Amino acid sequence: EQGAPARTGARIFCVANQKGGVGKTTTTVNLAAGLAKVGQRVLMVDLDPQGNATMGSGVDKRKLELTIYDVLLESASVAEARVHSDKCGFDVLGANRDLAGAEVELVDLERRERRLREALGQVADSYDFVLIDCPPSLSMLTLNGLCSAHGVIVPMQCEYFALEGLTDLVNTIKQVHANLNKDLQIIGLLRVMFDPRITLQQQVSDQLKAHFHDKVFNTVIPRNVRLAEAPSYGLPGVVFDPAARGSQAYVEFAHEMVDRIKTM
Ligand code: ADP
Ligand code: MG
Repeated sequence: EQGAPARTGARIFCVANQKGGVGKTTTTVNLAAGLAKVGQRVLMVDLDPQGNATMGSGVDKRKLELTIYDVLLESASVAEARVHSDKCGFDVLGANRDLAGAEVELVDLERRERRLREALGQVADSYDFVLIDCPPSLSMLTLNGLCSAHGVIVPMQCEYFALEGLTDLVNTIKQVHANLNKDLQIIGLLRVMFDPRITLQQQVSDQLKAHFHDKVFNTVIPRNVRLAEAPSYGLPGVVFDPAARGSQAYVEFAHEMVDRIKTM
């Protein structure tokens, strides 16, 4: 029963953290845009019923005829439901509020936690990277993401309780690794919204490196207002204002990920 996502084809990553407002969506869309910018073929999957990653990739979630909801319920394939974002240079498997119902509908269905993985398997050869923006919970939706992925990218702010907050996520990842997806690993912790002038953030950052060593990405994403403004224009910061410090940091992160998958 245990299996792993296919070795060939796209490397698949979940951007996950059960806390809300920690920069998951910002990281997903900007990493997707950064990877596209450096020539990678990218599919961005929105697993959050809020649809922020969809809207933030230049795709109007209200106008989508097919979404990830249809893929999870197996009434559409990924190839049918994906759309291309011309502005951003990557494909989008979008979400809207329909997805909120999937949680309940999936409970009684067979292979309920493997549906995304099976669906993505059919398009894996078309991409170098698949990035999955997870909702702020450890729900059936997030479980579908974790079952699909080779690795988890965990964005986090360097706050006082940051380490404590990781425990539940780390335990869930361990369980999924043991029971459902033996390829799953934490690829890395990404320090986001970082302000080096705040002593506490510097201290927490040092603690993170002491506990997690090379599981902490080298790239640090600064707090940058342009990244926060970009979604209201329906774009990732990397596309909206490529010169902004935050955008440059995400492109640097894209390079780090391209290097990272060479050793996976
Ligand atoms: P999540 O998806 O985890 O809920 P978001 O990516 O939506 O988090 O980010 C939460 C808020 O923080 C958003 O308003 C976003 O624009 C803002 N934000 C995220 N990253 C940064 C950053 N590096 N600098 C400034 N604001 C940021
Ligand atoms: Mg989000």
